[in-house]
Amino acid sequence: MQIAKDRVVSIHYTLKNDAGTVIDSSEGAEPLVYLHGAQNIIPGLEKALEGKVADDALQVSIDPTEAYGEYKKALTQVVPSSMFQGVETIEVGMEFQAQTDQGMEVIRIADVDGDNITIDGNHPLAGERLHFDVAIAEVREASEDELQHGHVHSEGCQH
Ligand code: ZN
Repeated sequence: MQIAKDRVVSIHYTLKNDAGTVIDSSEGAEPLVYLHGAQNIIPGLEKALEGKVADDALQVSIDPTEAYGEYKKALTQVVPSSMFQGVETIEVGMEFQAQTDQGMEVIRIADVDGDNITIDGNHPLAGERLHFDVAIAEVREASEDELQHGHVHSEGCQH
């Protein structure tokens, strides 16, 4: 069965950045299972997988625009540390949920300079070219429920 819209796809993958550092991998774990054509995964990877079948393997490099977007300086901001009341120590790399114009977003602490805290709303992989090694484990039709919900249901899914 080919990978196409409304099919459920299981893949094993290793993701590297330009420097060749492994950022993420399903090795030694369950495969990633997603609903094809429902924007469950980044657009560039979804395009590359279209039409493939189980046991196919591929290597694909994806530009930021087809992955997590370009890095936007405008999404960084310097705010006073008083905005983080109740947080004992503010450290680079900490993540917070914040209400923004685009809804709830994850904000990362990018820099701490005394009372001046630089926050960054970019995805951690924004601006990165991504290199995937993918092996397709399984392709099946999605169930009615899965199509309605727009995501895959695993065993024991409660809704
Ligand atoms: Zn659901």
